[in-house]
Amino acid sequence: MVEQAALTIEPPASTENFDAVVLGAGISGLVSAAVLHDQGYRRVIVIEEFDKYGGNHIDCAIGPYTFDIGSFIFQDDSPLLAHFPEMLPLYVPIDPTWGKLTPQGAVAGYPLSIKDDILRSGLWGCTRIGLSVLYARIFRSKIGNARDFARYWIGDYLLKRSGLESYMTRFFGIAAEKVDLDFAEKRMLWIKEHSSPRAMLRHLRPHKSAAPTNRQLARPRSGYDDLYAVAAEKLGRRGTVFRLGCEVSKIRKVGSTFHLDAAGRTMTAGRLVSTIPINRALDICGLDVDDNLSSVTLISLFFSFVGKKGFDCSVLYNFSHNGFWKRLTMYSDFYGKSDGREYFGVEVIASQAGDSLEIAERDFRSHVAHNHLFDGDLRLEGARFVPNAYPIYVNNAQERVAVALTRLRSFGVESFGRQGGFDYQPTARVSTQNAEAHLRRQPETKAS
Ligand SMILES: Cc1cc2nc3c(=O)[nH]c(=O)nc-3n(C[C@H](O)[C@H](O)[C@H](O)COP(=O)(O)OP(=O)(O)OC[C@H]3O[C@@H](n4cnc5c(N)ncnc54)[C@H](O)[C@@H]3O)c2cc1C
Repeated sequence: MVEQAALTIEPPASTENFDAVVLGAGISGLVSAAVLHDQGYRRVIVIEEFDKYGGNHIDCAIGPYTFDIGSFIFQDDSPLLAHFPEMLPLYVPIDPTWGKLTPQGAVAGYPLSIKDDILRSGLWGCTRIGLSVLYARIFRSKIGNARDFARYWIGDYLLKRSGLESYMTRFFGIAAEKVDLDFAEKRMLWIKEHSSPRAMLRHLRPHKSAAPTNRQLARPRSGYDDLYAVAAEKLGRRGTVFRLGCEVSKIRKVGSTFHLDAAGRTMTAGRLVSTIPINRALDICGLDVDDNLSSVTLISLFFSFVGKKGFDCSVLYNFSHNGFWKRLTMYSDFYGKSDGREYFGVEVIASQAGDSLEIAERDFRSHVAHNHLFDGDLRLEGARFVPNAYPIYVNNAQERVAVALTRLRSFGVESFGRQGGFDYQPTARVSTQNAEAHLRRQPETKAS
């Protein structure tokens, strides 16, 4: 009976025609729509599963507090702002500082501290660091994974003493030697830059660090909605239609035209750009997925606090050998205290905490207590699971991605972005540059 009623109220399928379709309204999707308009595409549709713009830029307002699902710090020279300069006045200028909790229980400079990681190890420790670097360089075996890479540059002893190895393990929730070398070559070049003898000497000499040439920014206190509404409105004026809270169930190709089925409607377009997870795109196009391409699910814990927290940086990384949490961000440093309380977010790799909010919280509390941090009234205000936070570089992920992207390309889909390219893009700036470069170098970049 119920089934019959559902059948009779189903609206007849209708078809809408567009010049181009973009899957995903994260920053890669928003910038893609802007570039497509620049290229002469008039009717562009952006389809997004969430009921909001901005993708993984997610804020959580709980009572008087305002948290993010991770740590988000932006720069005013990001190309995103070249497309949407109207957003700039909405950001909150900030002056963040970064630190790490060391395996020795100290709060030190992030990512490597000459003083804490090297000099404080004493004469014997310094000798061991030097010998282990020499050993790693002279008896260099094949560098086959991210751990080998780090070991080659700073040696086994400093890798452990600095907590870098523990942090690498925590980052993906897998042993550092299982992480693909591609990830190290992409994200860990700073180790190479900081560990040459010349760089070490430079760190030891007193020097004035160059003033940053850009301003650091946080989202508006009210959240991301106000920020990305500005971009969406601008795109709307240029001819973009947004379909939020909409899931595409199937994509077919008829001649050179894409037909997308979503929520009882069919949309057609001559060009299809995808910024959604690669496997999702493969699946809805009816192509083979690769189950080895998986992403990190984060748990974000949101706390408020009164008391002595034991450090004064705005972002603290966990480089100690224990504790599941990876990084914490003091939002009250950016937006001010609320009701006299500081507040912050903590990122935990869900798999490390057995996918349990309770375990994640319990572990965080006992770990910070053990390290004499947050001495006072620490109150959990809320928590959230964040799937698809970033891709896991394991089992030769980049080779698999190349195969998956070729499959999509043969079908005519241009796929890129953090999830669409299975690409660890550390910042919105990189995502924007990547989307632009990708769309501008495609041969079929002219509107018909
Ligand atoms: C925890 C964390 C902290 C970060 N910190 C910073 C920082 O400090 N500074 C900085 O600049 N960058 C930071 N980044 C990186 C930045 O968030 C990314 O570079 C950026 O979000 C990537 O944008 P994107 O559009 O490629 O992907 P996403 O933001 O992931 O967007 C993809 C979109 O596709 C949608 N989607 C998925 N499946 C479907 C479907 N089937 N149909 C339709 N839509 C779908 C998703 O809902 C999502 O909206 C951080 C990222 C994370 C996760």
